[in-house]
Amino acid sequence: MQAKLNITNHSHWNKGKNGPVIISGPCSAESPEQLLKTGKLLAATQKIDVLRAGIWKPRTRPNAFEGIGQQALSWLVETGKQTGLRTSTEVATPVHVEQALKAGIDILWIGARTTTNPFSVQAIADSLKGIDIPVLVKNPINPDLNLWIGALERINNVGIHQLGAIHRGFSTFHQEYRNAPLWEIPLKLKTIFPDLPIINDPSHISGTRENLFVVAQKAMDLNMDGLMIESHFNPKIALSDAQQQVSPEGLFQLLEKLHVRTANSESEIYNTRLEELRSKIDQVDNELFAKIAERMDYTREIGRYKKENDVTPFQLDRWKEIIETRTPFAISLGLSEEFTDKILQIMHDESIKIQSAILNNVN
Ligand code: PEP
Ligand code: MN
Repeated sequence: MQAKLNITNHSHWNKGKNGPVIISGPCSAESPEQLLKTGKLLAATQKIDVLRAGIWKPRTRPNAFEGIGQQALSWLVETGKQTGLRTSTEVATPVHVEQALKAGIDILWIGARTTTNPFSVQAIADSLKGIDIPVLVKNPINPDLNLWIGALERINNVGIHQLGAIHRGFSTFHQEYRNAPLWEIPLKLKTIFPDLPIINDPSHISGTRENLFVVAQKAMDLNMDGLMIESHFNPKIALSDAQQQVSPEGLFQLLEKLHVRTANSESEIYNTRLEELRSKIDQVDNELFAKIAERMDYTREIGRYKKENDVTPFQLDRWKEIIETRTPFAISLGLSEEFTDKILQIMHDESIKIQSAILNNVN
């Protein structure tokens, strides 16, 4: 698989400002007044780079507000003109692309439901051939990194180089979030494509405005490149996603509170000390792996012994004993129970795998 995207630096659609790209605006365009009022209040905060509004809304259940459609494009463009903000909207079909481009929308994004469908993404990509416009691709609703990468590749392959990703979380039954962030997925994406800007969408992850800040701060701490946050001049009367939209004033306060740290520091003292500490970690990691390998050697020996005696690799009593003895010990050393649990689980899984292979003559 091609693991390279041809990406242009995104600083020009972030006005070259140093710091995260901030995209905000209503979940849905509802009326010219709602857009203009929200847009003006957002622009007055001087913290917003791009205005967003959904024109065509993918709703989970029918009979919900499905967006105004084409007519609202001119409202968005007009608000952009009056506020000086760049405009963005979601496109899900080639017809949406054609209408959005004709209206003069500056940035397009592909929604989470669309990203799941390669036919739809390809159709959108084909309709963008030869056009130079920034396109942001939301993660698919299911936690499938390849599907996300595939959509980015399809868009990139037709010559879109102003490419970005939006992390909006993944569908789940889990109660804590509307969409579970599963931070490891966007981090993996960043590892594969270091130049790809990733914008976090705390609104669709949180589902409530109360939780926006924590998610946004976490995104900044993970060095993400921007935020897309839904806002409405009066969130209570919003026709979609009312609970998660924040007022422009609330957004201003959130952004004021946000601590944006730099990924690196120029300070020589800082870098020298960091290197010292890192070399200690390097050494500990080597020792850790040597110890884990030693543990697995004993595991192999036990596996061979169990084979001679025709005994199963898994023994519930032993597993329980390991958890009951190791957990309090690890906690007494200052490690968390959750972390200890995970470590024990992966070591145990590996041990069972090794022993099963020995017992079944796989090696
Ligand atoms: C939206 O941004 O309003 C939206 C529909 O988001 P998602 O595609 O992430 O559900
Ligand atoms: Mn929404």
